[in-house]
Amino acid sequence: MTTLETTIPSCTPMKDETLAPIFEKVVAGIPLSLEDGLQLYVTKDLWSVCALAHTVRTSLHGNDAFFNINRHVNYSNVCALSCKFCDFYRKKGDEGAYEHSIEDIENEAKMAIESGATEMHIVGGLHPWLPFEYYTKMLSTIKKLAPMIHIKAFTAVEVVHLARISKRGRDGIAGISSVISELVEHGLGSLPGGGAEVFDERVHDEAYKGKISGEQWLDVHRVAHELGLNSNATMLYGHIETRAERIAHMITIREEQDKCLASESSGKFQAFIPLPFIPGVSELSPLPGPSGIENLRTIAIARLMLHNIPHIKAFWIMQTLHMAQHMLQCGADDIDGTVMWYDITKVESSTTTQEQSITDLCRAIRDAGFTPVERDTLYRTVERDGKVWSVR
Ligand code: SF4
Repeated sequence: MTTLETTIPSCTPMKDETLAPIFEKVVAGIPLSLEDGLQLYVTKDLWSVCALAHTVRTSLHGNDAFFNINRHVNYSNVCALSCKFCDFYRKKGDEGAYEHSIEDIENEAKMAIESGATEMHIVGGLHPWLPFEYYTKMLSTIKKLAPMIHIKAFTAVEVVHLARISKRGRDGIAGISSVISELVEHGLGSLPGGGAEVFDERVHDEAYKGKISGEQWLDVHRVAHELGLNSNATMLYGHIETRAERIAHMITIREEQDKCLASESSGKFQAFIPLPFIPGVSELSPLPGPSGIENLRTIAIARLMLHNIPHIKAFWIMQTLHMAQHMLQCGADDIDGTVMWYDITKVESSTTTQEQSITDLCRAIRDAGFTPVERDTLYRTVERDGKVWSVR
């Protein structure tokens, strides 16, 4: 556990003295409780919360702020489920429904190589008819063309879907393990953190009934970690969940990471990514979504609650690059990458083609007062000469 005694005095003086016991716990490396997390949410002294989160991120990463050169691919928006917060999914035959062919994926891989990407991030809907072979072919096609590119693909929700369509759904953990192993054989490198939403039965039943439970999501990641894969964890917040349910979600991730680190698993959670709910045209669109201040506070609290997760990511595409800059000063150390195309959930009025150049990302990081560090998916430093790159 990290002890921060040497760096804590650099925090600004607290205005809210009720925060003092929480700050002492952070300094001593004691995990924060549900009550502590709630106190961090209600205090009016937001800047002390942010300052403490900044101290923690600095103790872990110094002045470095991470980004990567990546390409997101959403292979299909056709989905068997209808999560109420989601404005990405379509039913087969709906206007705008699509599925990419393997040739499309091949072209994506070529463009990824062309842009010097180190990662392809691939997720999609739970397509009712695409066969399991489509997914393995997708991976092997990319690997054949671009063996150096790391493929981070398929949320836990998709992995369970793939177990079902490959007739391993009834085999429980063994089925999940067999599916992930087969995907790894074809080129899978790690799992993204999506699909976690908020681990709470009430929220699950009201907003994404039919989706895998929190326990199943954790099972998939546990199996991936045991097989040596790293993964991320997300939290989709700012819809019908309470702040207490958010904190409980973070504590569950923290406890799972504790178990993982104490086990013989060689994989682990690398990053936690709070994702703000963006109403779009989803069924929950009458809800306003979280404010900028709530987003900032949630990033800072995530940094403080999750002492055993190395990275907190401000996913610029959902937070905006401007907010991501603020978040770097309030606990985040990563802003994701160049992205290029992201079709799932975007800031209102954004188009589907969304790209930040490396120059713009680095400028944003420098403007926020940090040193940009290009990382690969596993957070190794990338050394690059144009499109030619290697990792340290
Ligand atoms: S969130 Fe995922 S599983 Fe739910 S409807 Fe959207 S694409 Fe389907």
